[in-house]
Amino acid sequence: MAERLLERAFAEVDAARDELVDFCARLVRVPSVNPPGEGYRECAEVLGAELSRFGFEVAYHEAAGRPEHTKQHPRVNVIGRLRGERDRPRVHLNGHIDMVPPGTGWSVDPFAAVLRGGRLHGRGTADMKGGIAAAVYAVEALRRAGATFGGSIDLSGTVDEESGGEAGVAWLCEQGLVSADNTDYAIIPEPLNPDRVCIGHRGVYWSRVVAHGRIAHGSMPFLGSSAIEHIAHFVERVHSELVPSLSGRTTSMPVMPPDARRATLNVNSIQGGQAGQWPQTPCVADRAEAIVERRFLLEEGFEQAKGEIIALLERAHSENAERRYDLEDLLVVHPVQTPEGSELVRALDGAVQSVFGRAAQLIASPGTYDQKHFARLGGIEHTVAYGPGILELAHQVDEYVAVDDLVASTKVLAAALLDLLDAR
Ligand SMILES: [Zn+2]
Repeated sequence: MAERLLERAFAEVDAARDELVDFCARLVRVPSVNPPGEGYRECAEVLGAELSRFGFEVAYHEAAGRPEHTKQHPRVNVIGRLRGERDRPRVHLNGHIDMVPPGTGWSVDPFAAVLRGGRLHGRGTADMKGGIAAAVYAVEALRRAGATFGGSIDLSGTVDEESGGEAGVAWLCEQGLVSADNTDYAIIPEPLNPDRVCIGHRGVYWSRVVAHGRIAHGSMPFLGSSAIEHIAHFVERVHSELVPSLSGRTTSMPVMPPDARRATLNVNSIQGGQAGQWPQTPCVADRAEAIVERRFLLEEGFEQAKGEIIALLERAHSENAERRYDLEDLLVVHPVQTPEGSELVRALDGAVQSVFGRAAQLIASPGTYDQKHFARLGGIEHTVAYGPGILELAHQVDEYVAVDDLVASTKVLAAALLDLLDAR
């Protein structure tokens, strides 16, 4: 019975191929570019209208109280709810409606959503309006196939994922709109290739290292103490002492690409002394700083990642008391991983098998995405990312989603929903 329903749902996805592409194109034609966060209301409304048409109850949630929610650039999230026979289990399908600026060098108009050679081109086609369209049509294909859902479905479009998601998923979690009290599973259709399921990501620690010196006349630098030399000393030691030991550590998480299974560190910027313009006045720099981005492993944890930077700064100071540093935390995101044996992962794996005839590849992401908010703020442990589009194309020039991938992922999501929601 479930098999016949699945066959009918797959046939409905195939029949809806043009509608699916057209809906994705309509989302892409709203340039919801972040920064600054343009067009969010319009994009949320395009999604909300489609959800209403397909029987969802739709509500818009503006991120009132967040500083980035302004009159000029309102942060508008949308949630649609489709009620089944019971309230639970509830599956939440979530996509971010923001997209990064197109940049230059495109061979097509990045907001025209041009279909060419079986690919829909445009900013946001892969990351991740294609995923949102797949989620909407996965539910709709089941509905058209006559499915009755044992549980319910939330489908949301949220803002600002590309800039941290504070006014998007994090805000919905803080308001209690998304939490373990009302949601059992979350699926985020980010572009990770249609046969891979992403079970989490590494941790991130952004920090600022400030070096202090003593100002003096630049013609007599021996009378001062250069903060630029101190920050250079720090950067040199990071690369000669810390980075080699980090690259010897690997995580058991299946991070892709495999080189990202190691702990990594990137000095993101350095600044010191007078600002870059000419002319300058001759001074020994009394302040310089580095912004450091450390990606840490589940097996390391935040305390260790931070402790190693503190220890390095203390060694540098103990060898030369002129070297004085402060360390400031800027952002910490802890690693997340879907629990071992999760029924959500099992359902998606089975769904990938039913479409591709082979097991899903389980991966983890080198960077972070909204899973951190679902898992940490919402307390929804059973969260994964699964969606169409090629990971490496995200944020690139001439971004596209292949129509075949869009269709295949829609089927996978439909099969997973059928399983998780006991659809008949
Ligand atoms: Zn994304």
